[in-house]
Amino acid sequence: MSIMRLTVFFLFILTIMASCTLVHVKNTVPKEPEMVLAGIDPQISEYFNEYLKLSSQHDITFSKNPVIGFVKIVKKSIIPGTTVIGICHRSTPLKFIDIDTEFWEHASKSSRKFTIFHELGHCMCGRDHDFAEGKEYKEEVVEKVLNYIYNRVSFQIPEGYYDDWCPKSIMHPTNNDDSCYEKHYSEYVNEMFERCKPI
Ligand SMILES: [Zn+2]
Repeated sequence: MSIMRLTVFFLFILTIMASCTLVHVKNTVPKEPEMVLAGIDPQISEYFNEYLKLSSQHDITFSKNPVIGFVKIVKKSIIPGTTVIGICHRSTPLKFIDIDTEFWEHASKSSRKFTIFHELGHCMCGRDHDFAEGKEYKEEVVEKVLNYIYNRVSFQIPEGYYDDWCPKSIMHPTNNDDSCYEKHYSEYVNEMFERCKPI
């Protein structure tokens, strides 16, 4: 083998070693939740970090983070006087969550938090507006009419609600009162992850 050929051969071997080393180093970088926030608006990162912490306490890990940011959501709600405050786009491998700018400006801290958690429930856990195995809340407008009938006619609490009329899950299609979030905080967090199948 000539010197030229030998040099080319060693260069080739060195190139392979270098690329292997790179792959190896990439795979061993520790993955702390705080280190993987690219694509999440800084105003949202504290809520997302809290979600990751809670998920690991429930032995749930996710392989990929979504992109979460603010937009002016123009999609109309079917209930007059209400608006769409968050959307999870989950039909693509990378999930996107849009949060309405105007909602965020006027929302309380717990309303912000549970809106983010609700959208993450769709985008990270594959959940729909469900509250138990095979049981889902109806569309917002149907849910409101049914609740009115239950309340005024049969005086019963419908399935999917606590005795105080707070929903049993944060996957309810509408934003709840802050008082519900305070009263049922641990139940909401447990329910949120007990029914989570990471996607
Ligand atoms: Zn939803």
